[in-house]
Amino acid sequence: MIILVINSGSSSLKYQVFDMQNETLLAKGLVERIGLNGSLLTHRPSGKNPVVMETDIPNHDTAIQMTVDALTHEEYGVIKSLKEIDAVGHRVAHGGDKFPDSAIINEKALADIRPLFEVAPLHNPPAVMGIEACQHMLPGVPQVAVFDTAFHQSIPEHAYMYALPYDLAKKYSLRRYGFHGTSHKYVAQRAADMLDRPLEELKIITCHLGNGASIAAVFHGNSIDTSMGFTPLEGLVMGTRVGDMDPAVVPFIMEKENMTPAQVSDFMNKKCGVLGVSGVSSDFRDLEEGAGQGNEQCRLALDMFAYRVKKYIGAYAAVMNGVDAIVFTAGLGENSSSMRKTVCNGLEYLGVRLDEQKNKGRGEADVSLPGAACHVMVIPTNEELMIARDTFRLAK
Ligand code: AMP
Repeated sequence: MIILVINSGSSSLKYQVFDMQNETLLAKGLVERIGLNGSLLTHRPSGKNPVVMETDIPNHDTAIQMTVDALTHEEYGVIKSLKEIDAVGHRVAHGGDKFPDSAIINEKALADIRPLFEVAPLHNPPAVMGIEACQHMLPGVPQVAVFDTAFHQSIPEHAYMYALPYDLAKKYSLRRYGFHGTSHKYVAQRAADMLDRPLEELKIITCHLGNGASIAAVFHGNSIDTSMGFTPLEGLVMGTRVGDMDPAVVPFIMEKENMTPAQVSDFMNKKCGVLGVSGVSSDFRDLEEGAGQGNEQCRLALDMFAYRVKKYIGAYAAVMNGVDAIVFTAGLGENSSSMRKTVCNGLEYLGVRLDEQKNKGRGEADVSLPGAACHVMVIPTNEELMIARDTFRLAK
């Protein structure tokens, strides 16, 4: 079965194609600057040279048309015709409380996704544009939506509710949804495979540390708490997002700085986090370099980030009554040995014993010392493969 995976943003579209017989990646690619000047498609067929096409790409329909043209091209294509595509899987950020699992896309599913535009205005509308473009280009091919929120639908009410008046919370569906669920689920499963133990017996804390960052308590395979909330703004300090703070700060800044609700929301999403604290960059590589050169604000931003991760690890060890493995993933989690070391330093009471040599390595690894009661693991995330697996399961 050949599965096309689409991750559609407002001006970009990423794709991957898998042969599910042995989960082989056949090709991947990226369409950038859709609807803008200088749009281009970069197509990367496995085992062949990448191809870059610079041309006018006014909308998502054209982006999908170019994608399928590239996939079926006689020179750099990976399939002979469109008929070989058996199903399409789409990443959809927000599934609200309607989607505890991935879902086949039909009129009812689309009618349940559209009202969520209000709570995910940056992410859900482009996902639907990608879905509609595939419906035009590949009529009759089953399509599946895979939601970032679905894995967290197992979080119990006492953990997902905010202490707002109950009726108001229900009226506006104000609650913790959580995000990055596909990534947390993938790395938790992979950790169980690597430990050769059933996921249903393990207590795992998964740390997805990228530009957006979140952490989850995965108890016996189910997410029982996570740091992102009603939106992806809550929780850890992030590249440009503020994360947890006293909610009283929001009206205070609005009044002092004369901000509208839209302006303060934009501010908390794009101007805060390690970028705001350091005044230098949202990229952790720049911060590590700055801190190395003695920049105090870069050092502070890194210290605040690590401290918040450690605080959540302690909280989630408490709610699970222990932890068998702490998993690091995403850009920073996978690549920064110094951040992993800083976070793990002082977690010996949980049974963490980091192997400093192994921690400096690259790629998937258990980086704890033999016999450590709590494993520390580095697992590159693979959300696209997870989307392909769910699409395969539902379209079969
Ligand atoms: P992601 O959102 O998962 O793509 O992660 C992006 C973040 O990972 C950026 O802030 C990068 O600075 C960070 N990152 C990627 N590689 C490294 C590295 N080698 N060392 C430190 N941070 C890194």
